[in-house]
Amino acid sequence: AIFGSLSDRLTESLKNLRTKGKLSASDVDGTVREIRRALLEADVSLDVVKKFTAAVRERALSDDVNRALNPAQQVVQIVNEELIEILGGQQRRLEFAKNPPTVIMLAGLQGAGKTTLAGKLAKWLKKDGHTPMLVAADLQRPNAVTQLQVVGEQAGVTTYAPEPGNGVGDPVKVAKNAIDEARRRQFDTVIIDTAGRLGVDAELMKQAADIRKATNPDEVLFVIDAMIGQDAVATAKAFQDGVDFTGVVLSKLDGDARGGAALSVASVTGRPIMFASTGEGLDDFEPFYPDRMASRILDLGDILTLIEQAQEAFDEEEARQVAEKFATDSFTLDDFLKQMQQLRNMGSIKKMIGMLPGAGAMRQQLDDFDEREIVRTEAIIQSMTPAERRTPKLLNGSRRLRIAKGSGMTVTDVNQLVTRFEQAAKMMKTVAKGGVPQVPGMGPI
Ligand code: GDP
Repeated sequence: AIFGSLSDRLTESLKNLRTKGKLSASDVDGTVREIRRALLEADVSLDVVKKFTAAVRERALSDDVNRALNPAQQVVQIVNEELIEILGGQQRRLEFAKNPPTVIMLAGLQGAGKTTLAGKLAKWLKKDGHTPMLVAADLQRPNAVTQLQVVGEQAGVTTYAPEPGNGVGDPVKVAKNAIDEARRRQFDTVIIDTAGRLGVDAELMKQAADIRKATNPDEVLFVIDAMIGQDAVATAKAFQDGVDFTGVVLSKLDGDARGGAALSVASVTGRPIMFASTGEGLDDFEPFYPDRMASRILDLGDILTLIEQAQEAFDEEEARQVAEKFATDSFTLDDFLKQMQQLRNMGSIKKMIGMLPGAGAMRQQLDDFDEREIVRTEAIIQSMTPAERRTPKLLNGSRRLRIAKGSGMTVTDVNQLVTRFEQAAKMMKTVAKGGVPQVPGMGPI
């Protein structure tokens, strides 16, 4: 995959963090250095790399981190959020004109994938209930018009082309006429394919700018071949200066390039990446979601789900209070029960913990863990008096017998629970002294 080696490198540098309990400034620096190297090697532009690593470093070292997560997860979350930012933040959808037709103009170098994209976009829009028309305003390349007609046919849409014999016509006029025609025939979207050259070229830029001026498009999509490497940033800037555009389309994301340059385009131009092209077929096309791309690059699917669930289940304030209770020996069986119940809210616990990076050590214990255990524990604790829950030492032999009977358990079950609670409290106290417990309530299990 295009971001394959970048993905490997980033995941690797984040994995190195996973065994650490608490992160020092030098841990953060080390990781940031590795991230910097990975990005540079993937051809991400230097400015973007600097901005990115500075933001990650500052946030990782600040106190404003998410305390529901352990330090390594905090860094993963920060890197993910900053990557989303680099990729343009929110997903941006096409804007449709209030008065149809909506005009979408395509710009980019020759071979970038504009003509193919025209067909892909038309097919995608048609599926969505739109009535697109393709416009062949690339009158430079001899067979460009025919090529557009072919993809138009494949997409099952109408292609507007200059009359035969009129192939050296004026692309600006063709584009304007096409829009009139679209209005007359009630097409709701017009996709204008424009000419490209092999390199950035003043005359070509002027032609594209003229088409833009004459047709006042709702969207100008700059199509960039993700395989072109370092040149991507300069090309994007040249098109921004010469024509300007409202969005970016990354094409050939199915290729095997390092791809980092394409990752820089949104950040360098301040224009969102709106679509990704991933093959030669018309269906190899998808809207671009910065967040999904970031998690694909960081290989985070499961971890992000986990983080979301953890955030829902634990509020930070409460996590801090729990840590405080452990540290001061005031953690009670009530708290213990509450933690267990919260864990249960998080869905299937074993599956959840399976997603935790670095949960290796816990895994064996978890394999022995049984959801029914929670139910039994609940029953026992609920048979105790409030005073007993606060101070388990009050539980003498006869009380334990009563509780066992009350909860339908044996005295051994009750004894085991109390022992486990005491061990856990002791263990968590140690953890709490060295920092925030990783997942509150997991200790006793
Ligand atoms: P244009 O000159 O900008 O109109 O570029 P074309 O649409 O003619 O595309 C140039 C070449 O790239 C053609 O051979 C396309 O089949 C190919 N192409 C376009 N998009 C993609 C893509 O997303 N992936 C791959 N692998 N090839 C593509």
